[in-house]
Amino acid sequence: MDSVPVEATNERIRDAFQLLANETRLEILFALWNAPEWTATFTELKDAVGMRDSGQFQYHLNQLAGTFIRRTDDGYTHLASGIALYRAMLGSVAGTESIDSIPLDEFCPDCENRLRLTYENQVFFARCSACDETVLSSPFLPAGLDNRIDDERLWAFDRWTRRLVGNLRDGVCPWCASRVNHELSVEDSTESSAESEGGSNVRIVHTCNRCGGFLKTTVGENVIDHPAVISFFYDRGKDITSIPHWKLDFCTSDEGVELISEEPVEIRLTIREAGDELRLLFGDDCSVTEISRAEPRDSTHK
Ligand SMILES: [Zn+2]
Ligand SMILES: [Zn+2]
Repeated sequence: MDSVPVEATNERIRDAFQLLANETRLEILFALWNAPEWTATFTELKDAVGMRDSGQFQYHLNQLAGTFIRRTDDGYTHLASGIALYRAMLGSVAGTESIDSIPLDEFCPDCENRLRLTYENQVFFARCSACDETVLSSPFLPAGLDNRIDDERLWAFDRWTRRLVGNLRDGVCPWCASRVNHELSVEDSTESSAESEGGSNVRIVHTCNRCGGFLKTTVGENVIDHPAVISFFYDRGKDITSIPHWKLDFCTSDEGVELISEEPVEIRLTIREAGDELRLLFGDDCSVTEISRAEPRDSTHK
């Protein structure tokens, strides 16, 4: 697999940013972002920017072409990079920066006090209100907080996080679309978390080879959308696709996680519901290699 050396990548990024350090070129991008379907003719753009010299204007268009915009039969349109840039800025610069923490119905696995969701530096943390233990954390763009009340923010955060984890686990970076590495991270568990069977916190860390984006996930989070897990709960009267991930024990704790071997990776996750068990074995690349499902007690089919 070809990979571009870091220096060359940085050089290209520097060049792209340099293109933006010009009033006219920024105005062209704004005009295109505001145009229907991100497409406009030469004249429409020139009028929007208010530049009289056609030669000069063409020069700036040519500068942007290939990096942020492209020429079409009847004008110009944004490339994916031009749209991504706009969305990144819109999602992060132009949103709500801080909100009051949101109380959750769930309890701290360590001291059994109530959890609350706080928003700091564009990351959501579910933390214990008493001992400050962090149960989960995940990035969320400030724009997602706008025009939503707390319940809607919780819903949006759940959907957003599921998508992030799903993409990362599937090996496609949700931020830059590049390849993703999966690694095991094993830490000694803190004082009183007697629930974890191996006495350690087992996490799967997904890291993008290219943009450096990463997310540390519990073992359970990685199978929240696995058909065997969804159907296991569904057969027992629970639709986990509509339950926020922090309300699902197998997603937030190490309960049921058993580290059999670090090298090669072998982890067993036992999910329990209504007296039945579903066992998932994780192997190579931290992915599911084996599933054994207890038949529903009232099931008549195989
Ligand atoms: Zn606590
Ligand atoms: Zn990436």
